[in-house]
Amino acid sequence: MKITAVGGYKAVGRNMTGVSLDKKTIVIDNGIRLDTLQIYDDDTDMIRKCSKEELIRLNIIPDADRLKNVVAQVLSHGHLDHIGALPMNKPEVPIVSTPYTVEMARAEYKQGNFYAIEYGQDIELSPNLTVELVEVTHSIPYSSIVVLHTAEGDVVHTGDFRFDDHSQVARTNYRRLRELGKGNVKVMIVESTRVRTEGKTPSEDVVRIMLKDVLEFIDKGLIVTTTFSTHIERIQSIIDQAEKIGRIPVILGRSLSKQSKLAQRFGLLDLPQGTNVFSRANAIAKALDEVEDSREDYLLIVTGHQGEQESILSRMVNGRFQFRFKHNDSVVFCARTIPGPLNAASKYILETKLKSFGVRIFDNVHVSGHAAREDHRKMLELIKPEHIIPCHGNMDMRSSYAELAEEEGYRINKNLHILTNGADIEI
Ligand SMILES: [Zn+2]
Repeated sequence: MKITAVGGYKAVGRNMTGVSLDKKTIVIDNGIRLDTLQIYDDDTDMIRKCSKEELIRLNIIPDADRLKNVVAQVLSHGHLDHIGALPMNKPEVPIVSTPYTVEMARAEYKQGNFYAIEYGQDIELSPNLTVELVEVTHSIPYSSIVVLHTAEGDVVHTGDFRFDDHSQVARTNYRRLRELGKGNVKVMIVESTRVRTEGKTPSEDVVRIMLKDVLEFIDKGLIVTTTFSTHIERIQSIIDQAEKIGRIPVILGRSLSKQSKLAQRFGLLDLPQGTNVFSRANAIAKALDEVEDSREDYLLIVTGHQGEQESILSRMVNGRFQFRFKHNDSVVFCARTIPGPLNAASKYILETKLKSFGVRIFDNVHVSGHAAREDHRKMLELIKPEHIIPCHGNMDMRSSYAELAEEEGYRINKNLHILTNGADIEI
């Protein structure tokens, strides 16, 4: 079989991998690179203005045309760095994922030929080639480990993961992973974003305790929280804690509103009766007018944890609504600033403006959604692949994964392979 590294094998983002055998290719993931996009444009208008060739040249989307004889597109989960390039790359083949991820992908790319499958339900992509999705914990519901069962053995693509045995929205199917490890896994393609961090990534339970600690501590002013709109478990924890401290939760912002509605439909998010969720600018402005008069009664959940210019938090601080922050209001960042000079600059500007109003800042009420070094070792022990290809990381991250694999007995260029974007390898 041939594995082609299309995107995500040079820097974090625009993930895509091709698996080819018998003159048929399966594509795994189809993502965009968000930080590069931001350099050129603060909103995503650029995606509509640029040609596909320009987006590839600017390293925003993967060069899917490199892959020939594609018979199916499989998606590991719904983060934009895994599904966001679907509208530009327009796969004309069946697009396969869990029902939840399919709904997210359909919202990005309406014309797709989507097939939703449940965990553990094998479907045939071509003769002698079936796909199976195995449940794993990450920071979005319905993340999958993608398994291709082929005549030459199994291909396991871990997608993004962490091991969180206290998650309230997902479970890792250890039993199935162990079974796969006892079989014939020819190659494991594995994310490497956080492999340089020692130990284990903490559970989302840790964030629940951090949130309780911080939100019970704040005893005056308006509380504004901000987090990833796809992190449904985190949003639920914020809502639950708002109720416990007797504040009315209000969700503001287009992506938060879209993702919470989807999660509610799938029974993953339980909003208290009458919780207001607003996405339109005039409805948000009206809600903020109400909040302004009785600010100690409310807890807002808004977009803008990275200081994105068009987010609700930036618009609130920049006076784009009637609303004004006041001394003793608090902003709780339930996220970490994504590494990179651009994000750091946006966050710095946002925090400086907030402080100028006398707003108190609580940063980094957060744990990562990605596996740390010992999580990776555990995955390796479970899957026991013959060959390993680290993906989803810059050279540092993928080399660091290679070091870990060497500790476990793998040898570089023998059964451990470092590829860069555009390269392929016959296994
Ligand atoms: Zn992800």
